[in-house]
Amino acid sequence: MEIIFKRTGDFWIDLGIISLWTRLASQASKRGSSYVTQVKRHGRYGKDIPVLKVILSPDQLSLIAEKENAIVEELDKTCVKLCNDYIRKASTGRNWWWGISNFFFKNTKPESFFKNPEDMVKEQKGKWSKETCNFCGLERMVKDLGTTEHPLVVTSKKFQSFYSELSTSVKICNYCTFVTKFVPTKLFFNTGRNAILAMMFESSDLITLNNLYIELSRLFAEANEYGNFPNVLSWTQYPAETFMNFLCAIKIETTNSNILKNTLEKLENSKAHVIKGTLGQGLIIANYIIIPNLFKTYNFIEHCDWKSKSGKKYNALINTLKFLMVKTSTGMDTIKREEFCHRIFYSYDVTNLLFEFLIDNSLGKSQTGNLPSAGFSGFNIEVFITKYEKILAYMNQYQIDISKEIGAMIGDLAKKTGKKSLLYSLRSARNLNDLLAFINEILNSYLDMIILDRNHIDGLLKAIDNSNWSTYKSLIGIHAVLSFLENNELVEVKSR
Ligand SMILES: [Zn+2]
Repeated sequence: MEIIFKRTGDFWIDLGIISLWTRLASQASKRGSSYVTQVKRHGRYGKDIPVLKVILSPDQLSLIAEKENAIVEELDKTCVKLCNDYIRKASTGRNWWWGISNFFFKNTKPESFFKNPEDMVKEQKGKWSKETCNFCGLERMVKDLGTTEHPLVVTSKKFQSFYSELSTSVKICNYCTFVTKFVPTKLFFNTGRNAILAMMFESSDLITLNNLYIELSRLFAEANEYGNFPNVLSWTQYPAETFMNFLCAIKIETTNSNILKNTLEKLENSKAHVIKGTLGQGLIIANYIIIPNLFKTYNFIEHCDWKSKSGKKYNALINTLKFLMVKTSTGMDTIKREEFCHRIFYSYDVTNLLFEFLIDNSLGKSQTGNLPSAGFSGFNIEVFITKYEKILAYMNQYQIDISKEIGAMIGDLAKKTGKKSLLYSLRSARNLNDLLAFINEILNSYLDMIILDRNHIDGLLKAIDNSNWSTYKSLIGIHAVLSFLENNELVEVKSR
């Protein structure tokens, strides 16, 4: 007798399979009667439980036993354990969904939830019919897909702002339904004010997916009600910045990054999924994004490490992310940081965004410019933008250097003359001609105050054109603002 849970390609259900596997495998080892068998010939490995064999392979999880009973008993045991994780009993005797399970199953009756796949069908015979499951592709007992099985299903009752191909006309079988109950225990999440941000990974192969979760679960201490990874960035509330926060936490908690990087590299073409849901009558998914290029982004975070002369370690990206928020009367506005993270993930230029943010939030109202004290880290921004241009935006060292020199020249000039307006004039350049006219004007008006290698200007004039002027403008602008703001604090960091 064999029961299989086939890889579906749907990230939610596949994660459920991995979650079920983790529980079955730990049940086996706790009895002290298990061993791991590796049959390399088939690329499969598994754990043996007396009378029942559980095997995870790239495309399925199989449970094999001589007697059907043994399989059902094992699945019942996992249900009991899951119930202990999800349910709390009130003194009145009533069962309550607890912690993360409340977000996903609030509208479900606990009494009928914890059933093995066969009992599920027996309990509500009218609901199920024999057809092909749209997920595993097997002919089994199926029903219409609902939000209890998959949070991204679009039901007629609720409006959703993202595209989903899942609707209630999609059929799901009793076995795929069974594994979805286990998904919440595998989520990386943050919760607050009745909202949840949850992150999931996908893979074209279940073993790689399992390995990734093993690597990640080693990194973080146990979950509490509010999340299960440390917050490197504060005030995160949108999906992209939350996922970036998670990647930064991985980066900080990883001591030997090689194993993790090997796994991430295997997942290069796989994606991560982030959902933001709010809890009302049920879970309403307000936001859903898919993030590509995990490996590339993770590598970039590592590239942003640098050390000051005194040996103090910094990460230029993390410090820049901490700077990208604005204080409001009710807390922090992080919408620009969200957009910044989007651009990093989807490979859109961030130079312009950073320049605009610096102009809007660091110059202050006084003529001389105020350093935004909280979280400002001018030198880290400088290191970040240089690494960013070199690694992700593909500008060469020469282009970076001339932008830096010209920017520093403009910033110094603004400081010496007390004319912050020079920086605003640079910002208002709307095309290549505007930008060239601005630089020309500066050179003519302040010739005696400028110390600049003429070659830099010649180099810029040769390199700049209609396709790249905007990046040059923003890069020059960032260096101009930073050099305008440069004060003792910044000089101190630089010379350490
Ligand atoms: Zn199925």
